Amino acid sequence: MAEQSGQPIYILREGTTQSKGRDAQSYNIIAAMAVAEAVRSTLGPKGMDKMLVDSTGNTTVTNDGVTILKEIDIEHPAAKMVVEVAKTQDEQVGDGTTTAVIFAGALLKKAQELMDMGIHPTVITSGYRLAAAKANELLSEIAIPASGKDVLKKVALTAMTGKSAGAVGDTLSELAVDAVLAVEEGGKVDVDNIKVEKKTGSSVQSSSIVRGIVLNKRRENPNMPKKVENARILLLSTAIDIKKTEIDASIKIRSPEQMQSFLSQEESILRRKVEAIKKSGANVVLCQKSIEDLAAHYLGKAGILAVKSVSESEIAKLSKATGGRVVTKLDEIEPKDLGFAGLVEERLISGEDELLFIEKCKNPKALTIMLRGSSFTSIDEYERALHDALRVVGVVIEDKKVVPGGGAPETELGLRLREYGSSVGGREQLAIEAFAGALDIIPRTLAENAGLDPIDMLVELRSRHEKKGGKNFGLNVFEGKPVDMLKAGVLEPLRVKTQAIGSATEAATMILRIDDVIASGGPDERTIREAQAAAARQMQAGRMGMGGMGGMGMM
Ligand code: ADP
Ligand code: MG
Repeated sequence: MAEQSGQPIYILREGTTQSKGRDAQSYNIIAAMAVAEAVRSTLGPKGMDKMLVDSTGNTTVTNDGVTILKEIDIEHPAAKMVVEVAKTQDEQVGDGTTTAVIFAGALLKKAQELMDMGIHPTVITSGYRLAAAKANELLSEIAIPASGKDVLKKVALTAMTGKSAGAVGDTLSELAVDAVLAVEEGGKVDVDNIKVEKKTGSSVQSSSIVRGIVLNKRRENPNMPKKVENARILLLSTAIDIKKTEIDASIKIRSPEQMQSFLSQEESILRRKVEAIKKSGANVVLCQKSIEDLAAHYLGKAGILAVKSVSESEIAKLSKATGGRVVTKLDEIEPKDLGFAGLVEERLISGEDELLFIEKCKNPKALTIMLRGSSFTSIDEYERALHDALRVVGVVIEDKKVVPGGGAPETELGLRLREYGSSVGGREQLAIEAFAGALDIIPRTLAENAGLDPIDMLVELRSRHEKKGGKNFGLNVFEGKPVDMLKAGVLEPLRVKTQAIGSATEAATMILRIDDVIASGGPDERTIREAQAAAARQMQAGRMGMGGMGGMGMM
């Protein structure tokens, strides 16, 4: 608040809270660090799982950083910025979310220590930026060129550790690599071309890859053809039914004739809709909503194969695969909206269940992984593992670079950044050293989560890295000692690390630059009433402020 000739001027609305300077920074840092703490115990192959229970009682058991953070309700704005780090990491690379979040937390913790020593946040952020740029440079020096199925399989396996083990991991990594290689085009990989269709009742080893899209659906009516060649496919996002009235209407039917005319009216609506589909030239209809029985009957008579309740995400994949446009209104279909597939057929798989196969699609890159599993819980976990594997394999095919895992690059970067820091000198050197120290959080947490002594492990790792030929040494969490991760086959995409360091640094510096938090309180009744009462009092006293200013406090 400003003051002029002894009169206070209020600029903030009643109910607004404000915290300034060191207070604001500390609160933000504490909130952001709490997010990192929440996922820390899940890091690495020996990380623990979290059980999440939502407000409707659904439970998810996972150790996936981004899944956990998306699921829990986070209010604090600085904490939300850290959650964003996880989301960006997930979108950009599909792995390394926990790493990015706990690194951001560590950067902030170190920054707090520097601020307590009297170093200004501006110096810290500029030191962090220098360190991040150098880290990027050093990472590309550490990175190992990668090509060939063997390396890709190792990358897939590393991304899946903790989620699947042994023979299952072998099958899943093989599937992931084959699928991604099949959709690769000119060095680019679009994993959206890959659909995963889960089907229980068989072991994961009998999973397979199908060229085209597989839907776990049966045709709506036995009249419909089981097989359509040269399919012209209508992708429909609305139901084929009789339009429900907006308001609740009741119709009184007093005679059989009235009943008859009412029914035939309904019939003619459905006939018209089917007629519109026929006219467009479609011979396959994949509908996101419901299809009235009578409409299915007419469609069958017209020789059209139709399926209902196809999910939105499946429709999106089908649109990509067949080149069809999703039609929202039946009276607006045009022949050019239709997608194409050489064959649409309902087939039995392993003699148990019928599925719809859409093959020889217009886009030959579209494919489906038929994921099998013996139980629902195991197949869900395999699916999550497979998704991560598909993403990292895709990234390595695009970038052709990997780094060793198990905290090896973090340890190496830590050492080299300390050297770099002394070449920079000044106060920024302290920030660069803090950055290097923050990187230790990764090997340290891997050790802690495996029940190992973190100090011993860090010391052993560092001394390995200081020796010649030790730069690939990371923590073997099963045996509790440093090993050459390249030899052990624990490999991650380079992009996982560059992205994690980049976005964690960005979030941390953004949080550090905030020295004033002004939060407008909701205009709930009480504050409004209080504001009015205050205004009335001020009027009486013959002086008017420009609104009131709420209590100061942390948000
Ligand atoms: P994130 O969400 O960051 O990917 P994870 O729980 O997947 O978190 O853990 C990733 C960390 O675990 C990485 O540092 C990776 O190198 C390490 N890691 C993965 N597999 C192994 C392994 N077999 N031995 C040692 N470290 C591993
Ligand atoms: Mg991971």
